Amino acid sequence: MLETALKLLKEFSNHSFKAYIVGGFVRDYLLGIESNDIDITTNATPKEIKEIFQDSCLPNEDYGSVVVVMKGIHFDITTFRKEIQYENNRRPIEIEYINDLYPDLLRRDFVINTICMDENGDIIDYLGGQDDLHNHIIRTVGDAKSRFAEDSLRMLRAIRFATILNFQLSDDLIDAIKEEKYLLKELSYFRKKEELDKIFNCSNRDYGVKLLIDLEVYQELELYNIHKIVNCEVDSSIAIWALLDVSEKYPFQKNELEIMKQIKKVLNSNNLDPMVLYQYGLYVNSCAGRIKGIDLKDINEAYSNLVIHSRDDISIDSKTIMELLNRKPGKYIKEIYGDVEREILYKRLPNKLEDIKNYIKKHYE
Ligand code: ATP
Ligand code: MG
Repeated sequence: MLETALKLLKEFSNHSFKAYIVGGFVRDYLLGIESNDIDITTNATPKEIKEIFQDSCLPNEDYGSVVVVMKGIHFDITTFRKEIQYENNRRPIEIEYINDLYPDLLRRDFVINTICMDENGDIIDYLGGQDDLHNHIIRTVGDAKSRFAEDSLRMLRAIRFATILNFQLSDDLIDAIKEEKYLLKELSYFRKKEELDKIFNCSNRDYGVKLLIDLEVYQELELYNIHKIVNCEVDSSIAIWALLDVSEKYPFQKNELEIMKQIKKVLNSNNLDPMVLYQYGLYVNSCAGRIKGIDLKDINEAYSNLVIHSRDDISIDSKTIMELLNRKPGKYIKEIYGDVEREILYKRLPNKLEDIKNYIKKHYE
């Protein structure tokens, strides 16, 4: 990955441009963490970048950024710039392309995100990012309060990086969050959810949740049930969202909404109950079980001990039911299936054709 990135940087210098890897990749590289994509900063304008890389560019004209794909790696390439004025505490209205790296680093959010690597793999660290990595601390570039007032998303990014890297937030950053956190109300739920998802999916989630509570940010985010997810033994973020119960406000996909609904239902049911296990399946039951502190082993065992796992497992088909009762198709089949299913699940009726036939004859003929 790094090799491909350095080749790409050389391509820039072959065309007499400056280009550096910056941001997450360099930060994570120095920490020995693997990255998925690479941010590059350059003095080439988007138009010039497109001329150099032509077919490898993805269509994307966002804020002077071009995405180049090489060997399956996404390179997010942005032109050195100054951000002039911010709108709604988020996104600059006006940007100015510049020729120098240094001022471009000053507009970045955190010192740990300003470390660069040049085409020879050498580190360029004007603002002391490596010291911060060494000291496990997150500091804003410049005055924290005004950086958060410019763009309130940075507050959530700070908490997200602290969580993922298990770093401390600097004292001034903490004070600034406390003062500026009210601005988070203006931020779109989509953006907020993106950051929260990263926090909730992280193995260090408890630390992130503690920060959200201690800094009283959860109130601005309207996560009033946050205490329910403190030290919660759940590994899926959808189960966390189910506990937070904010689907009226935050955006979710249809299938996520359905899973959250099911988790809530199972939370209110008797877990190891065969019908509940059967109806909602192993995933939803495991999520709810973990929340209630039930051993996953017990859930797995109860699930695999179910006599049937779906209607297809029932040893009779609808044609046989119709023949047996000498009736045409109708709603009654569904009713019989539901009844037989229940009897089999609770082991009151063996899942054998003859037994099922006798049961149906006795109750429905
Ligand atoms: P990761 O990709 O692991 O989430 P990252 O630090 O690379 O982390 P990106 O969102 O990819 O984050 O942004 C790339 C870089 O752009 C950051 O490292 C930072 O220097 C700068 N940046 C991103 N978002 C902001 C922001 N809201 N304000 C200021 N600078 C930002
Ligand atoms: Mg990145």
